[in-house]
Amino acid sequence: MSVRRQTANRLTLFRTCGTCGKQIVTTADTPWVRQVERDGKRQATTYFCSEGCFAASYKHIGWFDGKAEERRKLKDRNRDPEKERARHQAYQQAHREELREKARLRRLTNPGLSAADSAYARRKRKLIAEEAQANAG
Ligand SMILES: [Zn+2]
Repeated sequence: MSVRRQTANRLTLFRTCGTCGKQIVTTADTPWVRQVERDGKRQATTYFCSEGCFAASYKHIGWFDGKAEERRKLKDRNRDPEKERARHQAYQQAHREELREKARLRRLTNPGLSAADSAYARRKRKLIAEEAQANAG
């Protein structure tokens, strides 16, 4: 939770830890607070006594095991660009008319946009060609 204002004395409140039930003292800058489903309320402001209890309040404790980056990398490794491309193409095939109509409407509602897009694409192609030439020569 963010500290809204720097004051010398913060209101101190006695609360119950949402995980272990211990009585704790909190101030406005207590970091372990979040909305959880509690006492029949979907979103109830709940305080926790420690980082451990705060982490335990999440259903997926794994989010806090410090291995998020590892999992992200694994997910990236398991990606199949070939499969993704095929899926993209299949979608375009299936929605060809729809996409064409959408593009037409976009051109109609934004005059000059397609010209700008073309100019951009032309400039990009030119730069890529120049770079390739510079690298070759
Ligand atoms: Zn606790």
